[in-house]
Formats: sequence, C-alpha cells, structure tokens
Amino acid sequence: MEKMRQAVMTKAGHIDFTEVPVPEIWIEQVLLKVMRIGVCGSDIHVFHGKHPYVSFPLVQGHEVSFEVVRAGAGVKDFKPGDRVTIEPQVSCGKCFPCEQGMYNICDNLKVIGFQAMGTASDYFAADASRLVKLPSNMDFGSGAMIEPLAVAVRAVKKAGIRNGMKALVLGAGPIGNLTAQTAKAMGAAKVIIADINDFRLKKAVDCGIDCAVNTSKEDLSAVVDKTFGSREKADVIFECAGAVPLMQTAVSLARKGTHIVVVGVFGEKVPMDMALVNESELSVIGTARYVIEDFKTAIGLVEKGLVKLQPLITDEFDFLKYEDAYRHIDENRDKVMKVLIKVNA
Ligand SMILES: [Zn+2]
Ligand SMILES: [Zn+2]
Repeated sequence: MEKMRQAVMTKAGHIDFTEVPVPEIWIEQVLLKVMRIGVCGSDIHVFHGKHPYVSFPLVQGHEVSFEVVRAGAGVKDFKPGDRVTIEPQVSCGKCFPCEQGMYNICDNLKVIGFQAMGTASDYFAADASRLVKLPSNMDFGSGAMIEPLAVAVRAVKKAGIRNGMKALVLGAGPIGNLTAQTAKAMGAAKVIIADINDFRLKKAVDCGIDCAVNTSKEDLSAVVDKTFGSREKADVIFECAGAVPLMQTAVSLARKGTHIVVVGVFGEKVPMDMALVNESELSVIGTARYVIEDFKTAIGLVEKGLVKLQPLITDEFDFLKYEDAYRHIDENRDKVMKVLIKVNA
C-alpha cells in the first residue's frame, strides 16, 4: 500500500510526522494532492492548547489548495490536474439549522483540521460535493486563501452592503484586510480600516484600502467624521479582531441604525452598552464561517481582480518545518500576515 507523510499534532506545541497509507476513495470522492495550507488564528490557538473545542492528537489544515489526482467513478465535475479548494465543514444534514440550509451553524458541526481529520498530509480524500474548482491560472498560495476570503464574503453579505455604503473595519489582520477589500469589491463607496499595527495597515493600503488608521496615534472617531461625514458616519462596522475594547468601540462609533457585524472570534464576554443598541436601533449581526456559495463568490472576486491575496502572504514554510512556522508567528507578531505551509511543490 502506498504511504504518505502526515503531520500530527500530538499535544500542544508539538508536531510529529508519521507515515500513513494514502487514503482510499469512494465513488463520489476525489483523491487530492495537498499543495498549500494556510495557518490561521484558530490553528494558532490549537497549537498553544487554547482552543476550547479540540482534543489531541489532531491533524490540522483547513485553508488549503489541492491538485486532483484521481476522481471516483461517480464524480463528473473534477478531473486529474484540476486545481481545487475545499469547503471544510462536515454537517449532519438532520438538525434544524441544516434543514434550513444553514449548515455552517449545524448543531453537530465538525470542521476539518479541528474536530475532523485535517489536510496536513501529502494526500487527502474528499467528497466531490465539498470541492470548489480554482481557476487554472491561480497559484496554489492564493488557492489556500479562498477559505479566509469566504469568511469575509459571508460577513459582507450578512452586513447587507449596498452600493455607496460606508464601512469601518476594526482589525487589519488577514480577516480584517479581506473583509475591507470585499466590502469595497461588493459596493462600499468608502472603507476605513483601523488597527494599532503599522505593518498590517500598510498591507491594507497595498491592497487598495484608501483609509488606514493607526488608532494608537489617531482619534478614530475624528477620522470617521472626516471621511464619512459627521452626520452619516459608518453604515456598517465590522469587528474583525475578537477584542472586547473593539466591540465597545464599534457600539460607541455607530450612528443610529448602523449594522455591526461580529466577524472576530471572542474568547471572553463583552459588556456592551445595550441601552445604546436599543435606542439607536443598532443591528448586531453574527457571522460564522461560510457556505459553499461564499467560496464561489470569493473566487469570482479574485478572478475579477477586485480582491488581492498575494500581499497578504508574508511567509512560506516547507511541510517538515510546520512547527517552525508557529515559532515564526509567535516571534514576529508584528510583521506576519498569512503564513503558508508548502506541502508539495
Ligand atoms: Zn481558518
Ligand atoms: Zn446539522
């Protein structure tokens, strides 16, 4: 039986490489060669043993690009050589949210790389129904970033962005950056992005975001008034950092009727001025991951040149250096955006 490498996180902070059989595929499945894997904030929480919903050992990898090796007899849409990515949620299909088509919030949801086997191997077997084709000219690094872009796409769809709207994005990490770009791409007339990290703000400017504010140096409220108008302010505010003070900032900067979209993942509870939410008719909107249509929208935005992914990729590590990638992230917090693992060339 043919063997492959697999990266197994045996405990927090430790990755072992083992040899396991190349997976078999069922007729509706596709055998994929793993090309690039993106490391995201949730992966980092797992590495540090701080993710509440995982147990070790586990195989990571949910932001990923592949090349199709072989398709099962029942698969029509994919052939060897195709570039694809995966919508990495495993839902039950039976619970109330699943019945309503909201399988991203399935009661029994498992996400690959967390509660289900991830892609950190040379090969991966996946149901064809969960794969999305990448353009043949898209590089594998960008292909691995369609997943985080799909998070941004869903957030912007949930916000109800319409042409001409003004959006404020709090947090300029990969998700904040992609949310800002997507808001513009989907019709926002003006976008302000705010952070305290100049490197991340510069990346946002490189990606075409016109107004990037360092809130440790400038008064964000004044910038909002100047850029959007003191009467109009922001139609939509996206919280993309999962930070308590930023959520409070979002409420305090809102005008009457502003939509506040909670994109960041919060580790703690947020005391909020609910009287203001009430009296100003604020809409506080949750958004969790994505559905497969969001991946298709994401790919379309990149193909049309409306969203740039390359400036976000700051580092690439070979598969066997997976642990080094995490150390690099820990030691260079202020100059890292997206780190990729190169599994195969
Ligand atoms: Zn992720
Ligand atoms: Zn379900």
